[in-house]
Amino acid sequence: MMDQPLLISSIIRHAAACHGSTEIVSRISDGSLHRTNYAEVYERSSKLANALASWRLQRGDRVGTLGWNDHRHLEIYYGVSGAGFVCHTINPRLFPDQIVYIVNHASDRLLFVDPSFVGLVADVRQRLQSVERVIVMCSASAMPPEAIAEGFECYEEVIAAHKSGFDWPRLDENDAAGLCYTSGTTGDPKGVLYSHRSTALHALAVCAPDVFNLGERTTVMPVVPMFHVNGWGLPHAAPMVGARLVLPGQRLDPASLYRLITTEKVTFTAGVPTVWGSLLDWIDDNKGEIAPLERVAIGGAACPQIMADRFHKQGVDVVHAWGMTETSPVGLANRCTVPASPAPEGIMSPNRRLKQGKPLFGVETRLLNDDDSVLPHDGTTSGRLQVRGPWVASSYFNPPLESANRANDGWFETGDIATIEAAGTVEIVDRAKDVIKSGGEWISSVTLENAAMSHPDVYEAAAVARDDERWGERPVLFVVLRPGTAPSKEGLLSHLGTRVARWWVPDDIHFVDDLPHTATGKVVKATLRRRLRQ
Ligand code: AMP
Repeated sequence: MMDQPLLISSIIRHAAACHGSTEIVSRISDGSLHRTNYAEVYERSSKLANALASWRLQRGDRVGTLGWNDHRHLEIYYGVSGAGFVCHTINPRLFPDQIVYIVNHASDRLLFVDPSFVGLVADVRQRLQSVERVIVMCSASAMPPEAIAEGFECYEEVIAAHKSGFDWPRLDENDAAGLCYTSGTTGDPKGVLYSHRSTALHALAVCAPDVFNLGERTTVMPVVPMFHVNGWGLPHAAPMVGARLVLPGQRLDPASLYRLITTEKVTFTAGVPTVWGSLLDWIDDNKGEIAPLERVAIGGAACPQIMADRFHKQGVDVVHAWGMTETSPVGLANRCTVPASPAPEGIMSPNRRLKQGKPLFGVETRLLNDDDSVLPHDGTTSGRLQVRGPWVASSYFNPPLESANRANDGWFETGDIATIEAAGTVEIVDRAKDVIKSGGEWISSVTLENAAMSHPDVYEAAAVARDDERWGERPVLFVVLRPGTAPSKEGLLSHLGTRVARWWVPDDIHFVDDLPHTATGKVVKATLRRRLRQ
């Protein structure tokens, strides 16, 4: 067979050639809808690539983005990666210090920012060591005055100043195309580099019928942000098959999403459980119906059975997907079938979780015991879940020494505890790692604990996740006080409020005499989590 590399540029070139007039609808910052198509996105990506070339970027240089889901972000995905640079999507919900760390660690040379993040970037601009230009993703008339005062450039002016048509390089398919940091583990955020090959193979895999089931007749609305692991592959998968794209911008409230689904006739959407819980409540309150929606992918955190039941009642199929930043992200998918005889109203336990499903072709799974022995796939024995596959990271990007390589023996340690049935269906039953996942976003337990310990009365602190119907998980803090001290809960919470993002502040604090420890002195978080559940 021909040795034809799998490249990001080939995806958009294919879309422009074969699905050129297929529409891409974006909600832009002023709330209006912008309409374009794959041919135009291709043309404008080539203008952007010409701009990048004129700025003398070197092959493999990183280009950061702080953007919502819209057509400009899509053009940057293709212009940057296609031209041989690395598109580094940054999560704007992180604390500014983390954003500074990530930009500096990645050595981003350029930063593309949505107008809504201009203030955030202006505040930290002096600390961004490698950034040479900041380009604001808007037209000249929408440039915020602060951006002009800071000397930031205007995206539309950049595009207008460069010619279309670009000689896309024939890269090695194993070259880096994208970069995303996970703050999901302890310590500093860690970068995961995606290659052209891994991105293309992952996107092909998620198009399959029992995964996202995408094709020419699908209208896809990725609610999962494009700054989260390449929007679960949708910005690459949709153009591959010529699916219409609806990009919701920054308005992710249930009323706005509902309106987009119904007026733009969205047939498939994807996001974390928190988003769907709010949407389903809104639909109930407003007696709405979400026809034309046919299918929803739910992932990033466990999907409660009751959520799948509520979608099924609306005639919407559910795909429960599991993945990680390190797995591109989709590794497992469970196309939940409608129960033959649905349980009567109120019988379903809201805490029952659905299994995460079978591996996509290419991904393999195994379970390990604490002593590293391989455990049986019998659906009941639980162990550490490890995965491997062509879109699973083998190491981190310029990793800090202590985490130089989490891949062990050719397998990636997920930090999840799971069972696997004989026929391959995986259920995530707990988490070995200590991070807390709230509304699909990570909260670092270590950062919370350090913030708590910076209070003079706190001797020891442990932050753990408590199940939460709306957010999936919320942080709760266990605190051992220094003898003779008695700070108030409120006082301690406001101390934390000055040190971490507002949504990281724990929902509750339990003052305890001591914490459970392992022989090596680590707090046994599983015991604390169990205590909270009970
Ligand atoms: P991230 O790297 O932010 O994508 O987070 C990956 C982690 O999210 C996984 O290791 C799991 O702990 C959790 N996760 C993702 N999807 C699911 C799911 N469907 N069910 C349960 N946990 C999930």
